[in-house]
Amino acid sequence: MEVLSEIAKACGFDACGVVPVDVLSRERERLERWIRQGFHAGMNYMANNIEKRVNPALLVEGARSVIVTLTNYYTPKLQLEGIPVVARYAYGKDYHGVVKDRLFKLYACLEEAIGQKITGRVFVDSAPVFEHEWARRAGLGWIGRNSLLIHPRLGSYCFIGVIISDFEPSRYSLPEERNFCGQCNRCVEACPTGALSSHEVNANLCIAYNTIERKDDIPSEMKKKMGDRFFGCDACQEVCPWNRKAVLHHVEEFSPNEWLMRMSREDWLSLDEEIFRERFKDSPLLRPGLEQIKRSVK
Ligand code: SF4
Ligand code: SF4
Repeated sequence: MEVLSEIAKACGFDACGVVPVDVLSRERERLERWIRQGFHAGMNYMANNIEKRVNPALLVEGARSVIVTLTNYYTPKLQLEGIPVVARYAYGKDYHGVVKDRLFKLYACLEEAIGQKITGRVFVDSAPVFEHEWARRAGLGWIGRNSLLIHPRLGSYCFIGVIISDFEPSRYSLPEERNFCGQCNRCVEACPTGALSSHEVNANLCIAYNTIERKDDIPSEMKKKMGDRFFGCDACQEVCPWNRKAVLHHVEEFSPNEWLMRMSREDWLSLDEEIFRERFKDSPLLRPGLEQIKRSVK
């Protein structure tokens, strides 16, 4: 485990742990209940591949362990006041590629360190994997009432990256069995739309879902509650006391896109597709696309 931690640190990760593969029966029950309640909204893919989601050995043949990494993306820098707002994670380049590149590096360094080939796959929010639960099992924090992983030192502004493989460490990490939310309820109270309840998010009411994943028009009631937000929402992280000590990330690619930090509503509404693609070439904003962004900004 020490070797892995050292290598992960050298590859730029802020924290890392490793756990044996297992079948996540409790998470399966929770996921199925969440879907029965319709909390997945239009994300029908959440109901697919449940077997694979709960059992990593079905995703990667011969898998023995799950390596979990955290990459801090926090920045105290904010956009200009009064302009359309995005969640912090979207300030810079799209994290999927950035974290994946680091995971491939970790993978290669690990092979070199142990002197043998590893068979596995890397995942960053792109396949049916319960990242938060693996991170908790890897001792990287607990799952807060806002449903996010909270690391005791880093807070919740972290990307989770995973390697599922046949790697077997000499020692596994210990899980975090405690939950340090205690009596705190700030995230639930701060959510502008009432999307949070008992460690679950109702995506129908969540601004992140409505502004990023939703394909049809955002209901007017929701739009009123969104305020200036047009891509994601940090309200349930901003109030979390565990984020008070969050420190600036050290990832060049996450440096804020200067256009994003100062573009007004009028700038967005008059933007054309070509300039949008040029200014936001590697940005997560490409996911909804300009037309949808304009609908959210209006
Ligand atoms: S992201 Fe925003 S809307 Fe969604 S649960 Fe958190 S505070 Fe509520
Ligand atoms: S705001 Fe409070 S309840 Fe919510 S995740 Fe943070 S510590 Fe837990």
